[in-house]
This record gives sequence, structure tokens and C-alpha cells, in this order.
Amino acid sequence: MKFVIGNWKMNGTRAILREMIERAANIQTENRVALCVPFTMLGEKSDIIAMGAQDISTHDRGAYTGEISGAMLAEAGAKYVIVGHSERRMYHDETNDIVRAKAARALESGLTPIICVGETADERRAGKTLEIITSGVRESVPENVSGDIIIAYEPRWAIGAGITPTADDIATAHRVIAETLSYMHLIGTPILYGASVNSKNVADIVAIENVDGVLVGGASLKPDEFIPIIENAK
Ligand code: PEP
Repeated sequence: MKFVIGNWKMNGTRAILREMIERAANIQTENRVALCVPFTMLGEKSDIIAMGAQDISTHDRGAYTGEISGAMLAEAGAKYVIVGHSERRMYHDETNDIVRAKAARALESGLTPIICVGETADERRAGKTLEIITSGVRESVPENVSGDIIIAYEPRWAIGAGITPTADDIATAHRVIAETLSYMHLIGTPILYGASVNSKNVADIVAIENVDGVLVGGASLKPDEFIPIIENAK
């Protein structure tokens, strides 16, 4: 079993989601599949595709205009929520401390946080990849993990770029994340790879040691890509 999770960002329509759900109903898969869609689409139902959100407030209620709480996401139908995606870190100045608070809120609400970590192009050039992902995991995972969590390794320079790190680089990053999780007594936490995954490269990527699945951006919006990704991720 592998995880295949899509991130629609601020894209997509209900019509595309319904087409995806219809087509997914006809495939045989042991994989755990989810789509992290815009908040307005969280109520769509599918036996194969669970719904996920892309952000959550650090607060549980109150005067925080525009924010959404974990309880609201759960009530709307979400099972998962992405926290600390590189675009939230980049455009909304989200730090590891904020990401940790969001992940804690998700767990309190019975949601599975998908905690993203990954290095920028500058950090990679400076040889800091392993340092950034290690501190990302240590500082973004809540102290008392009371439910399921998922880590997504997303090299920020490869997101939406049509390029991926080498298999060796992915293996090294995932091994270091697995070691960090083991040190934190979180052995067995799934570690997904994300950035430029498509229906052609997914089988090779999930075959890499310690890769428990994929987080897919652009290709998750196209049924002709996402359905084969689900089928080929084994
Ligand atoms: C992402 O933004 O999480 C992502 C993986 O994007 P893409 O697959 O388009 O690189």
C-alpha cells in the first residue's frame, strides 16, 4: 500500500472533482488516496478518494477573520490537512513553529496532518539540504503526537518545475527523515515524496527505499494523469 495524495492548491472545479471520483470508482487499488482540495469542495464523497484541506488555523475559534478551524474542516468532510506547504512558508511566512501549532490543531480535531519539509534552491546550493529537512521534521512535528501524521519531503526547487532529484538524493533525504523520526520515537510514520511527480515517474519514485507514497501537485488536477498515478504507484 502506498499513499497517493493530490494537492489542488487554488485550482480545480467541482466538475473535475466529480469526474475524478467517478473514474476512481472503477479502478482496483490498495493505495490510500486523497485529494487536498479548496475548502468549498470538501463535502464531495468517494469510497476511494478521501478529502483533505490545504491549511488550518492555529486557533480553535474566535475573532480570526478568514481562518478555518480543525473542527470546521472535520465537519466539512476533511480527513487530512496539508501543513507547512512551501507556498505557505514562502507567501505567508509560515515557520516551523507555526507549522507545529497547525499540526497539533489538526491532531486535536482528528485530522491527519501532512507535514511538509524541504529545502529551497539556495539551501541546496549551500549544501544544507539534510540540515533543513532534519530541523524541519524536529521543529514542525508536535511534541505529543496523539494520532496519525504523515511527513512529505518536497524539495522546494523541484515543485512545479518538471524536474526531480536523483533517486539517490531522494533515498538519502528519506533515510535521514526516517532516522529523525525514529529518534523522535515515531518509527513507521509514512514519508511521502512530492515535486514533479507524474504517471511516468511515479513507479520509480515509490520503489525508492523509505518512500511510502507521493504528494502530487499539478498532475493531480488532470484525471488522465492522476488516475494512472494511483494505478502505477506500487
Ligand atoms: C506541490 O506543490 O505539493 C507539488 C508536489 O507540486 P508539483 O507536483 O506540481 O511539483
